[in-house]
Amino acid sequence: MNKNRKILVLAGDGIGPEVMKEVLLINKWLDKNFKTNFEISERLVGGAAYDAEGDSISDATIEEALNSDAVLFGAVGGDKWNDVKREKRPEAALLRLRKEMDLFANLRPAIAFDALTKSSSLKENLIKGLDILIVRELTSGVYFGKPKGIETLKNNEKKAVDTQSYSTSEIKRIAEIGFDLSKKRNKVVTSVDKANVMETGLLWRNIVNEVHAEKYNDIDLSHMYADNCAMQLVRNPKQFDVIITDNLFGDILSDCAAMLTGSLGMLPSASLGAINIEGKRLGMYEPVHGSAPDIAGKDIANPLAMILSFSMMLNYSFNMIEESSMIDKAVQSVLAKGNRTKDIAEKSENYISTSSMGMLLIEELNKILES
Ligand code: NAD
Repeated sequence: MNKNRKILVLAGDGIGPEVMKEVLLINKWLDKNFKTNFEISERLVGGAAYDAEGDSISDATIEEALNSDAVLFGAVGGDKWNDVKREKRPEAALLRLRKEMDLFANLRPAIAFDALTKSSSLKENLIKGLDILIVRELTSGVYFGKPKGIETLKNNEKKAVDTQSYSTSEIKRIAEIGFDLSKKRNKVVTSVDKANVMETGLLWRNIVNEVHAEKYNDIDLSHMYADNCAMQLVRNPKQFDVIITDNLFGDILSDCAAMLTGSLGMLPSASLGAINIEGKRLGMYEPVHGSAPDIAGKDIANPLAMILSFSMMLNYSFNMIEESSMIDKAVQSVLAKGNRTKDIAEKSENYISTSSMGMLLIEELNKILES
């Protein structure tokens, strides 16, 4: 029996609580069948926390996140909080969690589900079977480098500066995560940079090569310039397995890769941090989509991105590979039988509710277990 596995659930605003409800039902099913024994606590975050506690995330919630093995995050935000000061706005909670948990590695899978290949903008044969993992550095690079700002020059012109900077240790730790993850996959890594025109790119490439030579020489490593990678992603995406890249390039390439596969409602993500003194690597798991205020409260949101994020948590935080792949398999089967929420429905009038999707998944999980 497993013990001491703590999960903090932060459902948030809008459709966050609706999609999280389905995850909690799947968690109950897992516990019944596999005695997972997760210790789950739930807290407010985002606009809901601002209304009840005066801030988008309280210190106590941050403390609890740091003491958990994993955080499941729904979504935050909505028009109601548009006029709230920037530092207390719902989205600030997410930034604070990333910072305090030191979540430096963002994992964005792009998986094409067979049943949905038609919804890609690319030809079906290019997409069928696609399974890429983009590992993006999340806490450094040009979004955080100093100096940063806009100044007025003597001639009254304005000048804006952002600084791209990376240190050896920042590159080393993201490279290690990428190589480690590739061991659970096909052991093929593409490192993406602009070593031809950027000093940070040059250092990036050198350090990735050093880490590779030191500990991971059984992994097939190649390098690619970021502009070429963007082209290759739409030309022949299946050539990739794991891509490791910096914050800026990762931001752009992960959105590009994700959209190869169809809808926002299908996209999970994970953010991983450093290993702490207790030997634990903190992780936060969340769908890529936001709180979708336009459909909140209607029971029509697609819960699959949140459910697939939960599956990533089982895999990456708890090494529960069998349970994680059961969930992925159940998602494939439910879709293959033609079940669609509104966002992925072929005919807009022919769709099922959020809760029906959750229920069908549990039925499918039961079938997989019996087979
Ligand atoms: P959004 O992702 O919430 O919605 C974009 C569109 O996709 C909407 O039409 C929405 O209905 C649809 N959609 C999103 N998720 C869906 C799902 N699971 N099922 C079906 N349809 C889905 O982005 P937005 O409209 O730009 O932002 C809405 C709010 O969410 C804003 O306050 C924004 O700041 C916030 N936001 C939060 C996060 C987060 O919490 N991580 C991320 C992005 C946006």
